[in-house]
Amino acid sequence: MNTLFWFRRDLRLFSNEALIEALNNGAKKAIFFICEKQWQQHNAAPIQIDLLKRRLNYIREQLAQYAIELHIIDAPYFADCESALLSFCDKHQVEHVIANKEYELNEVNRDAQILTKCDEKNITFTLYEGDVIAPVGTVKNQSNEMYKVFTPFKKQWLKQYQDTHFSLLPWPLKKLAEGKTNSPVLKGDGSSEKWPVDDDSLATIVDNFICDKLSSYDDQRDIPSIKGTSGLSPYLALGIISPKQLLVNIQNRYPDILTTSKSKTFTWINELIWREFYRHLIAQFPKLSRGDNFNEKYNSVTWRKNEADFKAWCEGKTGYPLVDAAMRQLVQTGWMHNRLRMVVASFLTKHLLIDWREGESFFMQHLIDGDLASNNGGWQWAASTGCDAQPYFRVFNPITQSERFDPNGKFIRKYLPELEKVPDKHIHFPHAYLGSIGGGKHCYWPAIVDHKAARERAIAAFKV
Ligand code: FAD
Repeated sequence: MNTLFWFRRDLRLFSNEALIEALNNGAKKAIFFICEKQWQQHNAAPIQIDLLKRRLNYIREQLAQYAIELHIIDAPYFADCESALLSFCDKHQVEHVIANKEYELNEVNRDAQILTKCDEKNITFTLYEGDVIAPVGTVKNQSNEMYKVFTPFKKQWLKQYQDTHFSLLPWPLKKLAEGKTNSPVLKGDGSSEKWPVDDDSLATIVDNFICDKLSSYDDQRDIPSIKGTSGLSPYLALGIISPKQLLVNIQNRYPDILTTSKSKTFTWINELIWREFYRHLIAQFPKLSRGDNFNEKYNSVTWRKNEADFKAWCEGKTGYPLVDAAMRQLVQTGWMHNRLRMVVASFLTKHLLIDWREGESFFMQHLIDGDLASNNGGWQWAASTGCDAQPYFRVFNPITQSERFDPNGKFIRKYLPELEKVPDKHIHFPHAYLGSIGGGKHCYWPAIVDHKAARERAIAAFKV
């Protein structure tokens, strides 16, 4: 059968079982659809699109070395993929299309329509699950339902995989001596340049993390001034690296990792399982893709519409240094540390009582790792509207969070140079100090809300 591979958010060669299956079936062509308008509707950040384009250029060159042609085709909306795919199949007599599944509602609907059309044309359309370790719908409770709480989901996930030693399928092709493409290079805006896209650099990043950082992750992951986390999220979000590939690498060094879930080294695996949890949820609850609260009980919360407060939050001008430094990290670099994502999301939804959907969109517009499942999961967790969320009466105090996780203000000073000279003991809320030296108004923003009053307002609104 003449087989075609359709790349999506699985922009990798060697740990891509669906691609390997296509190559084993003799595929000589692959496609990718550039869906600029659809991505805009999904709020995809320019920095993420830039990373995607750079990676596409790279894998097109790599594939050419194995005599596989990657065709990059414009299809502005998902709806345009259908006709573009069918005419490609027609032109090249394709009888079988292979791809990896995507779990968000628009993607699922696109694939359902394409499946119907392919059936009509006698084209086989096969979808794999390359973005998760546990295929969606395979981690269920005794009533055969999706878990609504993370810990039992994790326990069941581990039960299913603790005896598995993961491995990757062998790459089936030999490299040809030549294989340059003449295709024009895809141009992005260059904003993702700091993130390498070639497999050698990525292998080094992964190895360094596993060898040097995995065992200290548990101690360092909450300190934003330290590079204590992997920084792999942009690659996982675009499928440049697969979670299975990471597990294979970890098991090579720590063969018993999945049976030692109480060990500190395991903590990082926990995060990969959170990622799976949110993917399973988004696949099984389409309302999440529609922007609905997971927990309908909170549909009656009255969110404030306050453009000035929202703007202050977006621009890092709330007067709470940790929140402001975090928002500037996001806007300046396209990435934000996880602890800070929790702090700023709590601040927006509780202190400012602004709808989590506004924050969710703003994050997507700026994050290089923007990903509907994890972003929606994180926002609904912070806003208390989600599945297994933070209870509504838990409102992070941005000052004590700052004292705990940035004790010397190192992170704050990096992104708020205007506070460089403020002594450590005042850095977390410098207003009284700045007032006392007569520098308050000139160098830093007044606090837009009082912590205690805002906390009480949020709890009252959620109680209703
Ligand atoms: P590490 O700590 O090294 O973790 C390894 C990997 O595990 C990450 O790369 C990521 O793929 C996954 N992971 C880690 N934490 C989580 C989590 N809480 N939920 C789901 N997966 C996780 N992550 C995204 O990938 N895209 C998003 O759009 C996104 N939005 C978020 C929004 C909010 C409000 C919150 C609280 C969290 C969000 N996260 C998101 C999760 C998390 O903050 C990032 O995955 C993490 O900061 C990425 O850095 P890292 O790769 O160094 O993570």
